[in-house]
Amino acid sequence: QEIAIGGENVSAERTLILVKPDGVARGLSGTILARVEAKGYSLVDLKLVHATREILEAHYAGHVGKPFYEPLVEFMLSGPVLAAVFEGERVIEGFRSLAGSTEPTTAAPGTIRGDLGRDWGLKVQQNLVHGSDSPESAEKEISIWFS
Ligand code: UDP
Repeated sequence: QEIAIGGENVSAERTLILVKPDGVARGLSGTILARVEAKGYSLVDLKLVHATREILEAHYAGHVGKPFYEPLVEFMLSGPVLAAVFEGERVIEGFRSLAGSTEPTTAAPGTIRGDLGRDWGLKVQQNLVHGSDSPESAEKEISIWFS
């Protein structure tokens, strides 16, 4: 098999990445996109969108009833979000690794959340980014944000 350095020689995967309102408001959109591109993933779609409650109810359907659900939806409605589709071999796992764990205070240094995020004493984790957690969620989330 031909080896393509920096190219895709296995079927590529796609993921939905959001720069959440805290990331956009803090002026980190470009930095965050650059870090994903620098890891080697390809940007295939991008838009700045002020989410509606309807979009967020679809996107966070799996979290309905959890104590952080309503504060999370309110936070996601508080300002524009940058929605992006990135492509590449194992991009779903790769981006989640790059994003770091959910709590920004303790997310590992070297990750987006660990390097750029912190807790602000609020009811919701303002942790800068979202990334799909499985191929099924990626497909669903891309259709929600880019329908
Ligand atoms: N979240 C929160 N408190 C929690 C768990 C989650 O505020 O105890 C928020 C946080 O913004 C997180 C989002 O809800 O990113 C979705 O939660 P999930 O467990 O899917 O975390 P992720 O996959 O984004 O790390």
